[in-house]
Amino acid sequence: MRAVLSAGSNMGDARAHLRSVVDEFAGETVAVSSVYATAPWGKTDQPDFLNQSLLVDVDASPHELLARCQRLEQAAHRVREERWGPRTLDVDVVWIDGYTSDDPELTVPHPRAHLRRFVLEPWLEMDPGAELRGASIRNLLADLDGQGVRKL
Ligand code: ADP
Ligand code: MG
Repeated sequence: MRAVLSAGSNMGDARAHLRSVVDEFAGETVAVSSVYATAPWGKTDQPDFLNQSLLVDVDASPHELLARCQRLEQAAHRVREERWGPRTLDVDVVWIDGYTSDDPELTVPHPRAHLRRFVLEPWLEMDPGAELRGASIRNLLADLDGQGVRKL
């Protein structure tokens, strides 16, 4: 089963948290994106968000894949528990080839992926011909503002 995952972190050692995701899927990864930084908006006195996406080919069901993502989140949360707030690592299932679901526990494609440059830019980098909701990633990006996303 082919899938796109999006990892994000802006607390603790964000690079290390992203690396834990890359390491987990190392043997099953088709492509991994660069790391992208997004300036926080609203509450701006916090570090940039770092995001990275993976294109994986896993021998697992959609819910097993979600469970693996959630175990990575929990592992990162344990590390920061004493010192940091609650959003150390977020790992979302963005897309699964040939699979859709509106189950609140696992909604696929991710309901906000098509609006987020920090998801679409790394996805385009990994798979320039990719499509989401019947539109090319390239065209989806053309309709979105900059959103302060930059490739590191
Ligand atoms: P965010 O929407 O900002 O990623 P959270 O990571 O806190 O927020 O959301 C976690 C919840 O979202 C989990 O309970 C999980 O079951 C649910 N969820 C639904 N669809 C997905 C998806 N495609 N990927 C990851 N989590 C999902
Ligand atoms: Mg999430």
